[in-house]
Amino acid sequence: MSRPQSGRRPAPAATETPAAAPGSVLVGLIGAGIRESRSPRLHEREGDAQGIRYVYKLIDLDVLGLGVEALPGLLTAAERLGFAGLNVTHPCKQAVIAHLDALDDDASALQAVNTVVLRDGRRIGHNTDWSGFAESFRRELADAGRGRVALFGAGGAGAAVAYALLTLGAGELAVVDTDRRRAEALAEALSARFGAGRVVARTDADGAIAGADGVVNATPCGMAKYPGMAFPARLLRPDLWVAEIVYFPLETELLGRARACGCRTMSGAGMAVFQAVEAFRLFTGRAADPERMLRHFAEM
Ligand code: NAD
Repeated sequence: MSRPQSGRRPAPAATETPAAAPGSVLVGLIGAGIRESRSPRLHEREGDAQGIRYVYKLIDLDVLGLGVEALPGLLTAAERLGFAGLNVTHPCKQAVIAHLDALDDDASALQAVNTVVLRDGRRIGHNTDWSGFAESFRRELADAGRGRVALFGAGGAGAAVAYALLTLGAGELAVVDTDRRRAEALAEALSARFGAGRVVARTDADGAIAGADGVVNATPCGMAKYPGMAFPARLLRPDLWVAEIVYFPLETELLGRARACGCRTMSGAGMAVFQAVEAFRLFTGRAADPERMLRHFAEM
């Protein structure tokens, strides 16, 4: 009597996605160097609180010895295993787009995706980084002036922050990046969407901050690996509001110095939590409790 050499059955086609069992949700995060990510605990605790069997797996490209070229295989595998969706981070936020069926309007405008919903054999890309920053800003700095804002960092996170600030009505956004072409490309792309003159690329931190109501740090400066600030502390003034998006650590040199100077401040926690709140909703179809997720994040 012959038996198959392996007990495995042929894998079903990617389109035959098994529906998640009622009440159970499997999701994950694809990125490089994400071992320390708080996303699994943040999402799973919210799932627990809602009585959902919610499992959030880290798919760390560094641990797996893979690069962005592995994305098509990982997406197919996630579909076959019944994942409801995936968060996507560095270096995959742009690279993933080529492997999706559709993008929502904001992800399409930003050309960056941090959340992929896998449903009915389709892969839909969303960007909850921008809405996460916008929600944090609405809660913490709603009444802050935003006639002129200086934004440091024109990378993926900087683009999301810029999009949020312009959506929230920032009159003029000055984007400063040590990679001048990056700032110019972002200014050009956003001016096309939000109107000529709303976004300008600048190289001088002094000039960008001089007439500004507020300043946002969207560079890695302030992270444990990149201590310090993106601009000299002498440019801080008590009438400036200061928003930080670095959240590892939560307390950065910029926030400490800004507070000491008398500035209103906003940490990177809100953006991190509210991007997760919206991703949770997209994955599960159920609203997350933002206050509970903020509390859990603060406890980590
Ligand atoms: P990135 O590497 O794509 O972009 C960073 C940009 O900052 C680059 O263009 C770089 O040239 C520029 N830069 C570096 N030093 C500078 C300086 N001194 N002055 C001006 N520009 C400078 O990184 P990213 O994905 O955009 O992320 C940036 C940071 O944002 C991360 O380090 C992370 O801590 C944080 N982040 C936070 C959240 C959140 O939810 N709070 C989400 C995403 C990213």
